[in-house]
Amino acid sequence: SLLSQPAPERLAVSEGLFARARQVTPGGVNSPVRAFGSVGGHPHFIASADGAYLTNADGARLLDYIGSWGPMILGHNHPAVREAITGALQGGTSFGAPNEREVLLAEKVVELTRELGVERVRFVNSGTEATMSALRLARGVTGRSHIVKFRGNYHGHADGLLVEAGSGLLTTAHHLGEAAPSSAGVPQEYAALTLVSEYNDPAALDALMQERGHEIAAVIFEPVVGNSGVLIPTPDFLAALHRVREHGTLLIADEVMTGFRLSLQGASGLLGIQPDLLTWGKIIGGGLPVGAYGGRAELMEHVSPSGPVYQAGTLSGNPLAMAAGLATLSELQARPELYTQLDRYAAALADGLKSAAQEAGVPVSVNQIGSMLTAFHQDAPHGSVQTYQQAARSDASAFAAWFRSMLRQGVYWAPSQFESIFVSAAHGDTELNLTLDAARRAYAELG
Ligand code: PLP
Repeated sequence: SLLSQPAPERLAVSEGLFARARQVTPGGVNSPVRAFGSVGGHPHFIASADGAYLTNADGARLLDYIGSWGPMILGHNHPAVREAITGALQGGTSFGAPNEREVLLAEKVVELTRELGVERVRFVNSGTEATMSALRLARGVTGRSHIVKFRGNYHGHADGLLVEAGSGLLTTAHHLGEAAPSSAGVPQEYAALTLVSEYNDPAALDALMQERGHEIAAVIFEPVVGNSGVLIPTPDFLAALHRVREHGTLLIADEVMTGFRLSLQGASGLLGIQPDLLTWGKIIGGGLPVGAYGGRAELMEHVSPSGPVYQAGTLSGNPLAMAAGLATLSELQARPELYTQLDRYAAALADGLKSAAQEAGVPVSVNQIGSMLTAFHQDAPHGSVQTYQQAARSDASAFAAWFRSMLRQGVYWAPSQFESIFVSAAHGDTELNLTLDAARRAYAELG
């Protein structure tokens, strides 16, 4: 490989670590998709990361398209973020009492998202906590029990959201039967409070709201889907989402993946969405564990201690995490041209993949928006995959073979057909050429 010395297929250290990990951790990993279940082969244990590259425990260098599943929009080990964390570290890691950095990060988030109606923000420790808390708030405000989510959207692993969920569930779920929770351990009675509709199907959402709108506290959605692979909402679907308000239902845009990635105002800013509540994660913590939810003061002031909707956290707002988030958002705000750069890279990557696949006679349908991209292994026009059912038609085993070839060549793509890849500011012309050279070979092997 051009990238690595030694070759990335020599994984003695990673294999040894994985064997040890399986003795002490379920499946050897702390998050399922990392085990490479759907693509085969062995997971690489990562020793360090810098810019667009990972170095695995065997010393091979890999060009990274996962970006820690989204947070590393500036690239790994960015100096401004590292210095902010190091600076905060000198003063202790957690106080269990308020600190200035929480105020600074909240002010920054409100400043960046005020046009979306955000006046208050509450920090938690993950995207899962953010969506779970936003839904509790919606139920507390409306006094209603039911929620609506979309098939194949993923909002973290809170019980009520593990229903027809995307991401790792699409590739690892054990089949539990019809219209059931996506996970064992979620009571059917609880899952029954989660109604499921189809993404990009405005008529289905309208019909569901006509019938049951009066019972529905909130509709939660990915404003651009990453967790069925990339799906882009149609204008008609966005209009139907806004109509749910006519039923007194709150609209929750889950921007955990898209927030500060598709624009400084996230997917909502980019696509003109006006949600009641927003949730964030990933980039907002700059690579440390942070989630957040926010919205109008009138809604958010229902959260404790201002209001009766309880939510708390021992490590919430800790100075290290706040410093990393603040440094990341400040850097993005200071360099708005980055978004153009990311989009240009991802568009060139999309074009290159399309022609490489075509030359090799491999059917591929590419969806790309900003720095998010999925190349679905199926015979459909580019940009035409809009629904979960369409995404699910992809040939996951062809993808897996392509993925393994890319990895052998030192390019670490997302290890699932049903995920987005993430481009960072550290990806430049060298990385684009390396990737497309590898992709041409990988498609040729399939074709
Ligand atoms: N919401 C969305 C849209 C996500 O993509 C994710 C994670 O990938 C989550 C929520 C959950 O976030 P976390 O993994 O930080 O709990």
